[in-house]
Amino acid sequence: MDYKFEKPIHATIGTEKYKCSIEWRNGKIIADEPESTGGKDTGPDPYTLLLSSLASCTLITLRMYIDRKGWDIPELSVNVNMYQETTEGKLHSFIDRDLGFPSSATQEQRQRLVEIAKNCPISKILESDIKVRTFFFHEEETEKKINYSNEEVTVVWKPDFCQHSTRCWAQLPGVFDYKKKKWINPDGASATEIEEQVKKCPSGALSFSSSKEK
Ligand code: SF4
Repeated sequence: MDYKFEKPIHATIGTEKYKCSIEWRNGKIIADEPESTGGKDTGPDPYTLLLSSLASCTLITLRMYIDRKGWDIPELSVNVNMYQETTEGKLHSFIDRDLGFPSSATQEQRQRLVEIAKNCPISKILESDIKVRTFFFHEEETEKKINYSNEEVTVVWKPDFCQHSTRCWAQLPGVFDYKKKKWINPDGASATEIEEQVKKCPSGALSFSSSKEK
């Protein structure tokens, strides 16, 4: 199991209502709420960001397909909107996506592009069985620590902090194997791989140091 991004999307908010700073690999974007919900509208709201993701993925996927086919379709557009309704106590969300083609696109091309749009990566994510797993990070010190060392590296595990996210053992099973009594084996991967994996622990249960520093 590998994450899509080596570094996660990192976002912060202070007390200024409701400006969020979101770091992505090549810069920062701002998200906010409209004035009607107490923000200052300095950036797109979370619903807009979600729909923008689908809109951009749709257009990029179609452009790649059109270019591969060599079709003469110089411009495309898309409108995306959503509504929600609750029936029998269950919330249902509907996202409508309307594609706009120039008059030069044939009927056959339009139909094919609608099918391609349905399979763009973000469409697939939105229509898949999504689970949002939420963890929190501990920063305070705790007494209970277990060290797992070899000559090169030491991995420290704080069992009270571990939220059993499965992240470490799903992503680096040669080192982290919860079925074993000594469940962390620092010989199971390179020091760099272990250090990178330890950084992904969402709870602060894992830390890493060089054994030579001790
Ligand atoms: S990644 Fe961290 S929180 Fe998740 S199982 Fe491993 S040690 Fe526990």
